[in-house]
Amino acid sequence: RGKLPQMRPLARLESDAVMAIDAATRRNLELTETLSGERSGSLLACIDRTLTGAGARALAQRLAAPLNRPEAIAARLDQVELFVADEALCARVREVLARTPDLERALSRLSLGRGGPRDLAAVRDGLAETRRLRDALVENRLGPLPALVAKAMEDLGFHGELVERLGRALAAELPVLTRDGGFIAAGYRPELDEFRGLRDESRRHVAALQARYAEETGVPQLKVRHNNVLGYYIEVTPRHMERMGERFIHRQTMASAVRYSTVELGELEAKISRAAERALALELALFDDLVGEVTTRAREIGLAAAALADLDVAAALAVLAVERRHVRPKVDGSLAFRIQGGRHPVVEAALEASQASGFVANDCDLSPGQRLWLVTGPNMAGKSTFLRQNALIAILAQIGAYVPATACEIGVVDRLFSRVGAADDLARGRSTFMVEMVETAAILNLATPRSLVILDEIGRGTATFDGLSIAWAAVEHLHDRNRSRALFATHFHELTALAARLAELSNHAMRVKEWQGEVVFLHEVAAGAADRSYGI
Ligand code: ATP
Repeated sequence: RGKLPQMRPLARLESDAVMAIDAATRRNLELTETLSGERSGSLLACIDRTLTGAGARALAQRLAAPLNRPEAIAARLDQVELFVADEALCARVREVLARTPDLERALSRLSLGRGGPRDLAAVRDGLAETRRLRDALVENRLGPLPALVAKAMEDLGFHGELVERLGRALAAELPVLTRDGGFIAAGYRPELDEFRGLRDESRRHVAALQARYAEETGVPQLKVRHNNVLGYYIEVTPRHMERMGERFIHRQTMASAVRYSTVELGELEAKISRAAERALALELALFDDLVGEVTTRAREIGLAAAALADLDVAAALAVLAVERRHVRPKVDGSLAFRIQGGRHPVVEAALEASQASGFVANDCDLSPGQRLWLVTGPNMAGKSTFLRQNALIAILAQIGAYVPATACEIGVVDRLFSRVGAADDLARGRSTFMVEMVETAAILNLATPRSLVILDEIGRGTATFDGLSIAWAAVEHLHDRNRSRALFATHFHELTALAARLAELSNHAMRVKEWQGEVVFLHEVAAGAADRSYGI
């Protein structure tokens, strides 16, 4: 309180600039955490290759708000493409980023008056890296830099003076807190060196005093010590008490030691503490000075921190794309949704990690004429995986990342809806069926022709014919009214008959093979309806 927090200039946010994703959909798609609340297993954990804290936070922010403007998405993709195309540049940039401390956090602590010497060092080191990063970007270019990279480079700014000053000011080893001093380097301020010299010299005098007293009293074991209660004192064993003359002023008697002080020692002590106090006061003043220097440049430093985070995200997405064989999506203003060889990034990685058989890629085309896919197939055949993978691909494409597919063309999705599986929300007074109906109603009321809707097994929380009726009505409404691009997985085979009546509905099924009395799941999506369900 009483301190002005660091604030950025106001900027206008357009409500339709980002893809709207409601809370249920975020949860269902496990974007930043799984349904059980863990980070590992989420989309974010699976795609995060960032090296800095600020980069990781920026990536999470992107995932929370995919973009809606094709040009803005393309600009981000250009940035990623640069690093995909030039692996050496990507490696150089990441080498620098790996060394960069969290500039953003340090800056915010300093501007809130909660920073310490190590935050100043973080600012010094973070800003020092901006130069190396710019050098790397300037040297290694294949052609003109993409707009966002050029902007990041400009935002990195020039901070040589501040870096140099912090470099001169800060000691090599830094304490966490300013409290005890000792963080300003020798040679930075002559007065400080003087006070410190005085302090240290007096300490030497104290040591000399010990030798003199030992000789004068004839007690070689005599020691001059220091603690926080008595300050400096002279200590001998009780056996030598009678040797201590008048000028030793008794302070304390203990079982194993007797403690004294002298006028001389008291004077020296006062000298030491005066010098130490003045040194500390001066250090604190210098600290405030340096913090002031940093906070007056908060805007430039903030821009540099944001640029570092941005480059980190772009390079990280490039690394991911190469490592996981992702391709650049084409995102435009059409209503297309054509994905070839699409894969579920998290399931694919999990299968690879467990060295199970590989992930089977599947195509999906929800372009005009076949906007609504009805997906049938037995349990465990991979319906949910297929539905989710297409939603995730749309999200990845619109955050400006490459996508797990062999080709991808998407007309911007303005809103994403998903209704997956059954979940209670008893704490808020909603039964399984109630949750399902509330979420379904929200989708049917809000989805537009630009939206992407993923519905997995609607109508499960009630009696069979009620459920079938609800699913039936939902399909009709989606097809006729919402006219959204949609994937609808169901166990109600009766629904496949709707294809005859609804022009843009097309049936698809997960392929299975029966072989020697066993069911083999092929995880392949094929045109047509499943011939039967394998529920039991
Ligand atoms: P249910 O009807 O019981 O909900 P489902 O048809 O929705 O089943 P999924 O949950 O999507 O099935 O998939 C079951 C399992 O099959 C997944 O956990 C995954 O391991 C595997 N699987 C799904 N799709 C694929 C694929 N394309 N390639 C390889 N394995 C897959």
